[in-house]
Amino acid sequence: MESKPIVDVHNLTAGYRRRPAIWNLDFQIQEGKFTGILGPNGSGKSTLLKCLLGQITPYTGYAHLWGQNVDKVRHRIAYVPQKESVDWNFPATVMDVVLMGRYRPGRFWQRLGKKDKEAALYWLEQTGMNHLANRQIGQLSGGQRQRVFLARALAREPSLLFLDEPFAGVDAGSAERILHMLKLLIEQGKSIVMVHHDLVSAGKILDNAILLNTRLVASGPVSEVFNHENLSATYGSDLSILSDVIDLVTRNPGRFKDPRNQKS
Ligand code: ADP
Ligand code: MG
Repeated sequence: MESKPIVDVHNLTAGYRRRPAIWNLDFQIQEGKFTGILGPNGSGKSTLLKCLLGQITPYTGYAHLWGQNVDKVRHRIAYVPQKESVDWNFPATVMDVVLMGRYRPGRFWQRLGKKDKEAALYWLEQTGMNHLANRQIGQLSGGQRQRVFLARALAREPSLLFLDEPFAGVDAGSAERILHMLKLLIEQGKSIVMVHHDLVSAGKILDNAILLNTRLVASGPVSEVFNHENLSATYGSDLSILSDVIDLVTRNPGRFKDPRNQKS
């Protein structure tokens, strides 16, 4: 079955103080896929994500989710922000943060009940953070913080999950747990769009990639877009790992198959 586009970006130019950081992007993202936004520092990955989330207004073009403006579908998405963008001195416990995920957008009057508390606890267990439910978020390690923000996002039960560099500054155990949960979501038919920095792991875990260098270099299945031409257009001369990545992709084509098509 051909999957439907869940994200549709057309002629998208956006930036800050009238200076574009991303230019004329055109691409689509397919439903049910694990898609990465890849590019060097400053290539506009987070800016693109902010456009998809409706946090900044584009200068030209649009970014639609399910064919609509993001404001119409906010209840169907969740977001794990880049670590640096969060104020960790905010006085809240781990449980408070995860419960925030249960609020419906715009419904400030909403009261959280037993069901919400149960859902929050469930996701804290799933992320291995339930033993720290009463801890202040400022006291957590990088990996623990990332797990809590993943739990908060998953407590919303989204169809489409966005993450901005969830593995940056995270210990190996946390990274493994986070990746495991993301794979489960994909198995359940959810869609994930993740800004990601590391090319080698990208080749192993993603279905599709969007290669960005302020302009779109390529978008499509990892096995197709990871080639020498595209990767050097994306990363320029910073290419010491390039041949390793291409090796990995071309020598092991099987690992990029859709996991749902593989018999276990
Ligand atoms: P990436 O996530 O790929 O590292 P960003 O999207 O964060 O890149 O940044 C793209 C460009 O926009 C960079 O040149 C960056 O300095 C600039 N930029 C990012 N955020 C802001 C901001 N809040 N105000 C002004 N310029 C910004
Ligand atoms: Mg960024």
